[in-house]
Amino acid sequence: MEIIKNQSLKHYNTFGIDVKAREFVSIHSEEELREVLRENTGKRIFVLGGGSNMLLTKDVDALVVHIDIKGKEILSEDEDHAIIRAMAGETWHEFVLYTIGENLGGLENMSLIPGNVGTTPIQNIGAYGAEIKDTFVSCDAMNIHTQEMRTFTREECKFGYRESIFKNEEKGNYIILSVTFRLTRRNHKINTGYGDIQKKLAENGIVNPTLKDVSDAVIAIRRSKLPDPKELGNSGSFFKNPIVPIAVYEKAKATHPDIPHYPVSETEVKVPAGWLIEHAGFKGYREGDAGVHKNQALVLVNYGNASGADILALSRKVQQAIFDKYGIRIEAEVNVI
Ligand SMILES: Cc1cc2nc3c(=O)[nH]c(=O)nc-3n(C[C@H](O)[C@H](O)[C@H](O)COP(=O)(O)OP(=O)(O)OC[C@H]3O[C@@H](n4cnc5c(N)ncnc54)[C@H](O)[C@@H]3O)c2cc1C
Repeated sequence: MEIIKNQSLKHYNTFGIDVKAREFVSIHSEEELREVLRENTGKRIFVLGGGSNMLLTKDVDALVVHIDIKGKEILSEDEDHAIIRAMAGETWHEFVLYTIGENLGGLENMSLIPGNVGTTPIQNIGAYGAEIKDTFVSCDAMNIHTQEMRTFTREECKFGYRESIFKNEEKGNYIILSVTFRLTRRNHKINTGYGDIQKKLAENGIVNPTLKDVSDAVIAIRRSKLPDPKELGNSGSFFKNPIVPIAVYEKAKATHPDIPHYPVSETEVKVPAGWLIEHAGFKGYREGDAGVHKNQALVLVNYGNASGADILALSRKVQQAIFDKYGIRIEAEVNVI
């Protein structure tokens, strides 16, 4: 394992921000990780997966540990289910396609989400009516400070909307090395509840969709809506959809009667941040090389040479404008570093 000094991270983050890591090392096994952490006790450690959920605003003054551990295996199976474990460095979308190829159901709605398997529990990734927590069994993680391994069960992960224990109480304490899922082998729960999926399947004349049909539909929808980071730097949805007290929503609705909302609990509703941003006039807005995507207002983009600070400044401008207009605070989903 070679520790590289002053490594550019431009090709390690999907925003394509050109900052440097003070030190950088790629990790291919649990043993390698333990050794690196032991030999570098006291240094600040920064964990890097696929770099698709971070905005790097300055050089990273740390030892960047790039998790590149590969492998997957079916641990057990019966007629109905398979328990499958994938290592943290597996590319999520490739893993999803592998499960579909094995006729294992549960991950198909989350096709084409960028990033690595090991990062999926951190923000409980989700799309089109599915979240990782629905099929998650456990994950194995190494304590950064003691190098001890610990298994986190689904309950222990405290999953919420784009939330988990790894973003809260245990932030900065663990590196996830593998994730275990329980997937269906038959009687798949095909989830076509999202209108877009239904529309796409209908367009293709599909009445009884297979796992692959759903995955193909999701891939086609995502390709038509979201910019490909290989062509236009971005980190997917930059903001979370705000969950607000009903009173806050009612107040905003008094002056903006068409604000959409979805019930969350008896006291709170979720408001689509993309709608708020679009209706505040920011869709397609651009300041230098930092911009709000022209088709999807929730996505901030780097047209080429924007710095992380440029994107951050734009995000703050959007947040302030939304608060001024609707009295609603929107928070970043992306990790701002
Ligand atoms: C075009 C696009 C579309 C997207 N669509 C979606 C979507 O539909 N739904 C969704 O939920 N997300 C979406 N995202 C966000 C992103 O894909 C997910 O958050 C993904 O899980 C990030 O994985 P990563 O490996 O790239 O994480 P990174 O960006 O590398 O890391 C994210 C955070 O996790 C930490 N981390 C990374 N690996 C580990 C590890 N092994 N152990 C502990 N900590 C770690 C990092 O330090 C960082 O704080 C999208 C992103 C893009 C670019």
